[in-house]
Amino acid sequence: MSSSAHQNAIAQLTQVAALLRPQYKGKDLKNFDKAIALLQEPDRVIEGELEVTMDDGTVKKFPAYRSQHNNARGPYKGGIRFHPGVTLDEVKALSTWMTWKCAVTNIPYGGGKGGVIVDPKALSARELESLSRAYTRLIAEHIGPWTDIPAPDVNTTGQIMAWMVDEWQKVQTSKSAVLGENPLAAFTGKPLELGGSEGREEATGLGGVFVMEKLVEKLFSDKSKSEITIAIQGFGNVGYWFALHAHQRGYKVLAVSDSKGGIFVPGGLHPTEVLKNKQATGKLGEQSESLHTISNEELLGLEVDILVPSALENVITAENAPQIQAKAIIEMANGPTTPEADVILNKRGIFVVPDVLANAGGVSTSYFEWAQNLHGYMWSHQEVLKKLQELMERAFGQMWTTHAETKESGRMSTYMKAVQRVVDAMILRGRA
Ligand code: NAD
Repeated sequence: MSSSAHQNAIAQLTQVAALLRPQYKGKDLKNFDKAIALLQEPDRVIEGELEVTMDDGTVKKFPAYRSQHNNARGPYKGGIRFHPGVTLDEVKALSTWMTWKCAVTNIPYGGGKGGVIVDPKALSARELESLSRAYTRLIAEHIGPWTDIPAPDVNTTGQIMAWMVDEWQKVQTSKSAVLGENPLAAFTGKPLELGGSEGREEATGLGGVFVMEKLVEKLFSDKSKSEITIAIQGFGNVGYWFALHAHQRGYKVLAVSDSKGGIFVPGGLHPTEVLKNKQATGKLGEQSESLHTISNEELLGLEVDILVPSALENVITAENAPQIQAKAIIEMANGPTTPEADVILNKRGIFVVPDVLANAGGVSTSYFEWAQNLHGYMWSHQEVLKKLQELMERAFGQMWTTHAETKESGRMSTYMKAVQRVVDAMILRGRA
């Protein structure tokens, strides 16, 4: 496959389309082909340069994008990334994957993604606010609760969403004193004090654990929970919450890691203790009789039942895939497996729950946030997590049914379900 992320997304779509095509006949087949052709490119790309007056009085320009991939199933939905490595190609690819992710869990959204080429760590708080407001003005005409609902992504936070809500409201009220649309429902991932949802912080990690529990029923029914071993790469938001919820349910988390390296505790580790240690010393743990320090590469090759990449993209490669000993992989990071590695894992019979399903707990809870904002509801923590569990378990069950019927991989089965939902919506609307 090509190294361009968007080319990869198109190649993936082509592969899935070939599997789905036999299900469509006659006029529907023509419509199917048209829908697949349309889905290769986003519906719309908004591009511009954000002008920010820096603290020293100079004016700097930052290239910015919003890609709206497809809205056949509902408003575009996806995060905004502030990073020096942002490219339009990547933003387009990420918006495509958001379309599939929302379709996998069947939430009523399409896919979108935004990005600004900037190193936010080099900005003061005032400059960051100014940049966030300028970005909102750039896309203001094209977003809203029923149009496109942005959220945080790499380097964007609840605070940034709060500034964006405020700026979007200002743009709206500059045209009419009466607000036409609810600004709180135009962004998700907001702070709790400003329309955010309970449960959002842990949603991605916990959503992955709900998926894991269902996978365990299918693949490890002969084992008790305490016999099932897990290694998790990454110990940030996603990795920590995954580890904690897995541990609390009785699974044995043997290893976790961060950018400096990992720890392996043969008897099983306690995620809260590891977090305390990291906060106090900057390290996950010290070498001892019961704890071994390991590299990230060693973590990937550990003899465990389930491997959970929760840090970076492209960490499982053609080089290390032959050494992986886990029987299943739950992709909590976005894109942790290269296309070449995927082929190897498949041949070796290692079951992969792909990122668009495994980590969809985040966007699903964004959907709950939006629904609460639209209706003025305030759901409890428990209510949100119950809804999340239902949604993730249903999505896993539907993937598994496709897998059982077609014998395709977890990734292909997930994509088949997602692409089919989007294509059918496009045909029903008469767009294809
Ligand atoms: P985070 O920044 O909170 O944590 C990232 C973790 O990865 C940290 O523990 C960091 O030390 C570790 N890390 C960094 N470089 C590493 C390296 N070279 N080797 C090993 N570990 C390294 O980020 P997060 O929110 O936990 O996101 C992790 C992944 O999950 C990303 O791919 C992200 O896109 C994806 N994801 C996150 C969410 C969410 O809700 N946070 C939702 C969907 C997908």
